[in-house]
Amino acid sequence: MMENIWIYSYNKLTAKSRAEAGKTMYVEKVFWKNPYLTELTAKVTSVLGSKVTVDRTIAYPFSGGQESDYGTINGHNIIKAEKQEKQIFYWLEESHGLMAGDRVDIKIDWGRRYKLMRLHFAAEIILELISQHFNRPEKIGAHISADKARVDFIWQGNIAQAFGWLEEEAERLISGDLAIHSEFCDSGNEIRYWEIEGFAKVFCGGTHIKRTGEIGRLHLKRNNIGKGKERIEIMLGD
Ligand SMILES: [Zn+2]
Repeated sequence: MMENIWIYSYNKLTAKSRAEAGKTMYVEKVFWKNPYLTELTAKVTSVLGSKVTVDRTIAYPFSGGQESDYGTINGHNIIKAEKQEKQIFYWLEESHGLMAGDRVDIKIDWGRRYKLMRLHFAAEIILELISQHFNRPEKIGAHISADKARVDFIWQGNIAQAFGWLEEEAERLISGDLAIHSEFCDSGNEIRYWEIEGFAKVFCGGTHIKRTGEIGRLHLKRNNIGKGKERIEIMLGD
């Protein structure tokens, strides 16, 4: 059975990593405090070949099914970004020439990030509506890219039969332009949640929009991915 991949699992942290968390300097994830920031000055904290770390960042690494941001560190393309527990590693082109201690400018591709944020939250809403109204079917996968999101369930029958209701409920939440509150529930272990008052409170370490209205129009598409397994694909209307 797959874990719920939205959640930064506290249990996955080993006792050792919990102890080390107290003494190691991890990158400050400014993409949580301000997910709308597109440029940031930071300091390089380590360099190992093409792999660098920085003291603070706005470039989101592939996590919880949400794809990495595209961006640059001092003009060098981020080729890969990976989160390992509380640290984030960025791979740049070999010729980057950066050294520990250098001041750098980090920029992200905002057009892509904003689509990822909107689709991520659209997926959050669909997932939560399904969970609440269809007796929490097991979620077996999720992925957010810049052109669509998908969520997979163990589900008998055709999940598209729920789409009329789902689209109506999602539209009600989106047109209500509700405030989305995102916060730590355990900052030491970087466990975060989002909450919409009266609707849901969900653990998630992704980057979240501030209001549901930012999502705009949604389109849902069904895909049967195997016996008893159904996929919902979510696309933005624009
Ligand atoms: Zn989320």
